[in-house]
Amino acid sequence: MKYFSLNDKSHKVSFQQAVVAGLAPDRGLYFPESITPLPDSFFENIENLSHEEIAFEAIKQFVGDEIPETELKRIVAETLCFDFPCVPVEDNVFSLELFHGPTMAFKDVGGRFMSRCLGYFNRDKDIKNTVLVATSGDTGGAVASGFLGVKGVEVIILYPSGKVSDIQERQLTTLGQNIKALEVDGVFDDCQDMVKKAFLDDGLKHKNLTSANSINIARWLPQMFYIFFAYQQLKKHNKPIILSCPSGNFGNICAGIMAKRLGLPITHFVASTNSNDTVPRFLEKGNYDPKPSVATISNAMDVGNPSNFIRIQELYHNDLNEFEKDFSSYSYTDAQTEAAIKDIYNRTKYVAEPHGAVGYLGLKKEMAKQPGSIGVFLETAHPIKFLDVVEPLLNIKLPIPKQIESVLGKEKVRTKIKTYEDLKQFLN
Ligand SMILES: *Cc1c(COP(=O)(O)O)cnc(C)c1O
Repeated sequence: MKYFSLNDKSHKVSFQQAVVAGLAPDRGLYFPESITPLPDSFFENIENLSHEEIAFEAIKQFVGDEIPETELKRIVAETLCFDFPCVPVEDNVFSLELFHGPTMAFKDVGGRFMSRCLGYFNRDKDIKNTVLVATSGDTGGAVASGFLGVKGVEVIILYPSGKVSDIQERQLTTLGQNIKALEVDGVFDDCQDMVKKAFLDDGLKHKNLTSANSINIARWLPQMFYIFFAYQQLKKHNKPIILSCPSGNFGNICAGIMAKRLGLPITHFVASTNSNDTVPRFLEKGNYDPKPSVATISNAMDVGNPSNFIRIQELYHNDLNEFEKDFSSYSYTDAQTEAAIKDIYNRTKYVAEPHGAVGYLGLKKEMAKQPGSIGVFLETAHPIKFLDVVEPLLNIKLPIPKQIESVLGKEKVRTKIKTYEDLKQFLN
């Protein structure tokens, strides 16, 4: 499989090159040259397949012959070391819980898959790769955990000072070994801009920089896996399925759309956002007009210029009429999100965290337009990661899961930086 740059379709590279580089030299995101639907028999038989078998079939064509089948099967198995239950919340509404992994966020899947691909590509080389990641919340922890101890890879995480939760900060500053954290005096977009700039800086060529944000295809594509798992669990209802993704950089929802292009019968996608509403405004007005990000209680989605939206535009040929057929996007304020967390809990006793609650709101809006369908929203993180919001709102005390307990007592180790020059100095 070849990948082309979305800035220049004649620039093509292999899977390995795209994974190792992250971003094309012209700053374009990589995109697969072709998408071949899986056979009908696969979907007819999906309830009899294991997670590993499903994931292997979904990812195989995107890796091609660059990783041998047995190795790819091992990578997939190690990636999927936890559960992805679709939990009924109310009539016809399900929560796809993506938080049962090591850092309790869906990004564990992409983080684990990518680190193992890179580990495979570096298997008998002395080159050192530096993974540079900007995080608005969960990416950092998941990437750090996914890469911890991977040979020949150093991970450097940039996060906006004061804009991630205490638990999130601990998850990315307490691991040690090959993982280093930088606390940036700025917002997420500043972190992301610094990372993008570093990739293009000739003065950093010797560091073999790569990204582990969802711009990297090995972080992005495995996110298809659990959309298949959701279908596997919901198929028996025999109704059209609406899927709502709480969206920040739009990598998760873009992977969902890819799954549909592989033939997965999802009827409609909803990209639910917080007040960072660049995409809902685009669908309404037709022009893409990114704004600086604003801080919200669903901080992993505080993204003013979602990096994966360009891939979604590619999938829909940037044609609003095509979008209209199966894609909507709605935005919600913090007040609406808080009211939803309370409402869901009071009626059903289900504890949603802010991202999931935004997903729930978008789902309900679309379901009202499409009677007879069932809906699933992605619960992208465990509520414990947002306990500052959830506990006072619901007046409850959440039990601390073992994955979180292990980081609570550890000391945060990070370096504070302000400018791109600070980052460069740190890297050199
Ligand atoms: C990263 C993240 C999101 C947003 O996912 P995208 O793929 O960037 O749209 C939503 N919720 C949580 C908890 C996250 O960590």
